[in-house]
Amino acid sequence: MRLQFACSSCGKNNLYTPKVPTRGDLHIKIGITEVQVNCQICGNRERKHLNTINAIVDYKIIGIGFVLGIIATLGLWNFYGAVSTASFFIPMLFWIQENNAVSGFNKYHIKRK
Ligand SMILES: [Zn+2]
Repeated sequence: MRLQFACSSCGKNNLYTPKVPTRGDLHIKIGITEVQVNCQICGNRERKHLNTINAIVDYKIIGIGFVLGIIATLGLWNFYGAVSTASFFIPMLFWIQENNAVSGFNKYHIKRK
């Protein structure tokens, strides 16, 4: 899962670097409902409400799942029945886990005062 925000000046999406599992955790970590962000593309600085920061699927994680699936496939090469299961299910589990994390983050909104 990656976090991103859209720059209101150029409209491009920027990576938001703190790694937190949910928006609630982000709120607790920062302690306030707005963060100062810096656009990497146009250099615009602005304040963003935490509710405008969104999670997206990190395809690098899915890629790791595929690599692990391949490794497991090679490791299980002598156990024919397990090969197709491992090479299919490991990336699937990563995919499901990523999607759960993303939807969990995006579903939770901090109450605006
Ligand atoms: Zn920008």
